[in-house]
Amino acid sequence: MAVSIPTDFVPAIFDAARWENIEPLLDDLHRRPIHSAAELEQWLIDRGELLAACSEAQANLYISMSCDTADEGKRTAYLSYIESIPPRLKPRMFELDKRQVELARQFTLPAERYEVLQRDTAAEVELFREENVPIETELDKLAQEFSQVSGAMTVEFRGEEKTLPQMAPFQESTDRATREDAWRLVAQRRLEDAGKLDDIYDRMIERRHRIARNAGFDNYIGYAFKSMHRFDYTPADCERFHDACQRVIVPLMRRLDERRRQRLGLDTLRPWDLAVDELGREPLKPFAGGVQLVSKTRAALESLDGRLAEMFARLGDGAASSGSEGGALLDLDSRKGKAPGGYQYNRDRSRRSFIFMNAAGVHRDVTTMVHEAGHAFHSMLSENDPLLHYRHSPIEFAEVASMGMEFLSLPHLGAPGAFYDEADLRRATVEQIYRAVTVLPWIATIDAFQHWIYANPQHARDQRTATWLKLDDRFGHAVDWSGLDAFREKAWQRQLHLYSHPFYYIEYGIAQLGALQLWIRSLEQGEKAAVDGYMRALALGGARPLPELFEAAGLEFDFGAEMLKRLADRAEAELEKVEA
Ligand SMILES: [Zn+2]
Repeated sequence: MAVSIPTDFVPAIFDAARWENIEPLLDDLHRRPIHSAAELEQWLIDRGELLAACSEAQANLYISMSCDTADEGKRTAYLSYIESIPPRLKPRMFELDKRQVELARQFTLPAERYEVLQRDTAAEVELFREENVPIETELDKLAQEFSQVSGAMTVEFRGEEKTLPQMAPFQESTDRATREDAWRLVAQRRLEDAGKLDDIYDRMIERRHRIARNAGFDNYIGYAFKSMHRFDYTPADCERFHDACQRVIVPLMRRLDERRRQRLGLDTLRPWDLAVDELGREPLKPFAGGVQLVSKTRAALESLDGRLAEMFARLGDGAASSGSEGGALLDLDSRKGKAPGGYQYNRDRSRRSFIFMNAAGVHRDVTTMVHEAGHAFHSMLSENDPLLHYRHSPIEFAEVASMGMEFLSLPHLGAPGAFYDEADLRRATVEQIYRAVTVLPWIATIDAFQHWIYANPQHARDQRTATWLKLDDRFGHAVDWSGLDAFREKAWQRQLHLYSHPFYYIEYGIAQLGALQLWIRSLEQGEKAAVDGYMRALALGGARPLPELFEAAGLEFDFGAEMLKRLADRAEAELEKVEA
């Protein structure tokens, strides 16, 4: 469990939330004379450890705040960190990037070990333009404006004021009128601010286009690919993924929609009929409380593979944790004053994970638990890499670690001491496969939309709407939208990534294909082979290019039609088998 850290550059006791502590170390990195490749390697490790200390300071402040949003002091501490440290750190880090690129020209480092790091750093240096800094700040403010507008949306539902996320559970109500009321209310509320959101998006597109032009690109697509370090696939590969989804996954999804319509006994399927259990059953109740969630997850993992269970045990038993006080690594139960959602956060310096979630005892929580555990395994397995950069992997593979764990653990959710009896396990299995398959066309929709947006930055709003509707025809569910045109035209506005994280999304599709392959591998070659490959690949962290990370896990880095067909056929066959 002890990690060896080959440097004492950052003192053992070090408050990285204070600029006066950070600055002298940055000065050292700027000025330190380097005479050999060995000294350069040490410099890279030292640089990483300083950044790790800063990132851990931020992580701890963020964790404290999200576990206790009502505590004004914790909020202030986080915000004052965000305002004082990153704005000063970023330009200094960029100067270090430049120095690193120069030093790497003078001293030859082992190519295999350093190619990923050097490729990523060189991209940062090549893209940087002084005149883009104020435009980036404007974009941050626009993203802030977007969260204000969308965060302020509430509806009054049956006499109670509710946020839009709080309305989501009503989509699972077995009472159709409730679902329809809830759906219409939310869609209507969004529509009221559609003009504002269009406005924000227009301004974002204009600025992103300008940033790309300043950096020498024709449009934002090429710029985004390079800044996101997408060196191993191209916009043309994304188009192949869209086409493959259309040809292979959409027909399967629409067959499942038709089955849903029949099972629900409806004339037509409407947008509010997609989340309800198609056999009208009440939601699964797999556990009560975070401690039980942990012990049952552990039982499932023990049944899958002792090595995974051992890593999971390092996170603790989930008892008495509320926040990270006392060294807790888990805060699982939903309670008042906790931020929404779930995450796994790695403390980069001490190499300790933290898993945050809002468990309420539903099946979705079990999925989240094993998903975040997959991220934690990734951190643990790569924790001994001396380079910070390699203790993180690109999202396209990081999400294979987490989504892959959802699939690998699935058959064991029914192990002794775990969550389900045979019938409930079948239901959980159907849900997992259904979700993995039906998310792919939505990913293709969002990705294709963005490619069009940034290839045509001067488009008019009605062209944007026409493009969206065409994409929904191409990739959407088999639902009847009659009388709902105004809502349908603006349905893209609920996807936060379009505003705040442009072009992020295809990553989840690529990772889902990896997760599905891993699952099929476990079915065909046995779980041991699948878990061995999984652990081997996770141990690489981010030290190798994407295709090699996939390869190390025994997976193909391929998102063409043949691959999708193989996955879709197998998923459909497994669905039939489970339901037989
Ligand atoms: Zn994840």
